[in-house]
Amino acid sequence: MSTIKTVNPATNQVEKEYAVMTDQQIETILTDADKAFQSWRKTSFAQRAQLLHRVAEILRERKSELGKLCSIEMGKLHREGIGEVELSADIFDYYANNGAKFLADSPLDTPQGKAFLSYQPIGVLLSVQPWNFPFYQITRSAAPNIMAGNTVVLKHASNVPQAAEIMEKIFTEAGAPKGVYTNLFVPGAKVSELVADPRVKGAALTGSEPAGASFASMAGKFVKKSTLELGGSDAFIVMPDADLDKAVETAAFGRLWNAGQVCVSPKRIIVPESIADKFIEKAKAVYEQVVVGDPLDPKTQLAPLSSEKAVQDVIKQVETTVSQGAKLVLGGKRINRPGAFMEPTILTGIKKGMLAYSDEIFGPVLAIYAVKDIDEAVELANDTEFGLGGTVFGTDTDKAVEVARRIDTGMVYINHVTGIAPELPFGGTKKSGYGREQSPAGIYEFVNAKLIRVT
Ligand code: NAP
Repeated sequence: MSTIKTVNPATNQVEKEYAVMTDQQIETILTDADKAFQSWRKTSFAQRAQLLHRVAEILRERKSELGKLCSIEMGKLHREGIGEVELSADIFDYYANNGAKFLADSPLDTPQGKAFLSYQPIGVLLSVQPWNFPFYQITRSAAPNIMAGNTVVLKHASNVPQAAEIMEKIFTEAGAPKGVYTNLFVPGAKVSELVADPRVKGAALTGSEPAGASFASMAGKFVKKSTLELGGSDAFIVMPDADLDKAVETAAFGRLWNAGQVCVSPKRIIVPESIADKFIEKAKAVYEQVVVGDPLDPKTQLAPLSSEKAVQDVIKQVETTVSQGAKLVLGGKRINRPGAFMEPTILTGIKKGMLAYSDEIFGPVLAIYAVKDIDEAVELANDTEFGLGGTVFGTDTDKAVEVARRIDTGMVYINHVTGIAPELPFGGTKKSGYGREQSPAGIYEFVNAKLIRVT
């Protein structure tokens, strides 16, 4: 790979190209980030908070333009792009407002004199991120770590270079000293070398399981702390007492969020047998009315997938599952127009052994399963290698919470698709990875919780 490109998925046209960085450029960036750490670690929380608040302010001032850039680089609906930029600004503010409190010395109860934890930054964090939320993904690791006194080197996905570049410029405009936050234009194949570099002290990746496994094994080899935020196959369990229309609407539109390209998208809708036919009929009626089109048009409900390869991969997954015996209720094909557009799709009759049963489908495909009771629903929800999020949808929220306790994931939402908020932790178990981002937990991942004991 010699260039990194923006290819607009609504047209499949190349919009902008960047040269991959040379080894010399990478060397300079890592040296600067390491050098910057030596002074950034000595700054006060107030100084760091001032920088993060200013970044948040700039994001808000430019939210329409940055949201549009998400549309151009990876096909996101403009309103979703604006929402993402606002969320990112909220996360910067959250850590700016709370970081000093989270990282204040924490006294420990011991009969051996006075003891406390002092939270100290560890150095350069390598952050490797995917394209599906071009600004939010960067923010999740940048905000807490810069607040904690670490410096961040970002390797963003190769299809969103403009977002990567703009974020670095925003940090500079906000007053970040050189090296505190830097972008690297390198391909995924270069990441192992970066993890191994002695100046890199921590490594955070969000992405697919194969990339995560390779990343974490390299971090392990060099004894570095890592976090992994990987794929998901969230179950959306509809309880027998659920309001059917609300459940259909929440699941169907939840699955179309970001054209289905969300790690916590409701990827498996699990419905009681008694209402399954009605549920499918209503979901089909919703999807038949979905407006597919230009991500910049406010009327559009479903925009293109992120790339030509993405649409081809998802269509192939659907075709394979249908060839294995599943029923295609709706969609399943690309739309006859330029760009990476796919029909809203519904699959039913998926059984263990079929591709869609086990694999993550990163596109607008609503997979509906019918089960005889809640025990079978929970068993199905847990019969996956993933463990990211999930939903239980029902009127009796106490009962829904009991079901939530039985789901083996890092997050379960009641009456809502798995969501995102600065103050709530985000992360998974099983092959969805380890570690948490956002919330107080997100700031402790890459700090040294040093014990100091005074006798
Ligand atoms: P991907 O191919 O794994 O790419 C993610 C990032 O990793 C990109 O920057 C990519 O660079 C880099 N990369 C690729 N191969 C690598 C390797 N061998 N070692 C280290 N880094 C490597 O992921 P994707 O398929 O584009 O993204 C979608 C996946 O991310 C889905 O599975 C989704 O569920 C998951 N995701 C998880 C979360 C979460 O919080 N759990 C959030 C969002 C997305 P290049 O672009 O240069 O290849």
